[in-house]
Amino acid sequence: MRNIPHSAIQEAKAILQDAHRIAVLTGAGMSAESGVPTYRDAQTGLWEKYSPEQLATREAMSNQPELVWSWILHQARVMRSVQPHEGHKALGRWQKQLDANGGALEIVTQNIDDLHERAGAEVLAHLHGTTFTFRCFECDAPSDYVLEDATEEQLEARPELDQMVLEEPPACHSCSHGFIRPDIVMFGELLPQQAMDDALEAVRTADVALVVGTSNIVQPAASLPIAASAAGAKVIEVNPNVTPLTEDVDVYINGTARNVLPELH
Ligand code: NAD
Ligand code: ZN
Repeated sequence: MRNIPHSAIQEAKAILQDAHRIAVLTGAGMSAESGVPTYRDAQTGLWEKYSPEQLATREAMSNQPELVWSWILHQARVMRSVQPHEGHKALGRWQKQLDANGGALEIVTQNIDDLHERAGAEVLAHLHGTTFTFRCFECDAPSDYVLEDATEEQLEARPELDQMVLEEPPACHSCSHGFIRPDIVMFGELLPQQAMDDALEAVRTADVALVVGTSNIVQPAASLPIAASAAGAKVIEVNPNVTPLTEDVDVYINGTARNVLPELH
């Protein structure tokens, strides 16, 4: 096996083969090899001058709705146009197998894309919401807006060449003055309570927490592996870079989601 530390994989497999309940915690790195950039890599071209923390806030959306809506649309179209990879698919198969044997593999993700679902896995909690359903920015009424598949032109519009045409967010049909936003958690907003409760329950009852592709910086998601460990779970981390969590995990696998996950199951 190239580039993946063999002994770490063996150690992880030894732990996982006795596990009945596995909580898989995924972040942007899970989707990176499908072609969705992580936040660290996402801000190119037109977006270079803004950080996600500047764009994904209520204040920014209120002050510059076209700019924020277009940034969100651009990301959503990229997410729509890519495919799940072997790592997503391995989790889908693993989940079905554990389910059939009376165990469980619960997926808790910070990702707003739907790549786990498209790989045949069920997601217990989307901690930061999802980018394909919408509601009103003002009155919160759910919207039936459907994100259409991106045209070649939209996908090829190169933000780095300033060729992106800014689009206005569609108006809300329930109130007279609002426009719509996706069901994502913006910086400064609270996480959906049910998702966080489900996530905590999953890590507290897990034998193993498998943490994949998250920088473990954004709270409260970053507290979940700690809660798992405190409740007695073994913690395994898969990430090509070390994170603040790494020194506390039971096994650290220096590798990528697509390469490592199929090896673990
Ligand atoms: P992050 O961008 O802060 O960190 C990504 C992590 O993934 C890093 O630690 C990096 O080393 C690791 N990584 C990179 N490539 C990898 C690979 N191929 N395999 C495994 N790991 C890899 O992302 P985060 O920790 O998820 O948190 C930041 C926020 O970004 C979250 O709120 C999330 O909602 C949002 N986000 C979501 C998406 C998405 O939905 N796909 C994309 C970008 C950002
Ligand atoms: Zn409204």
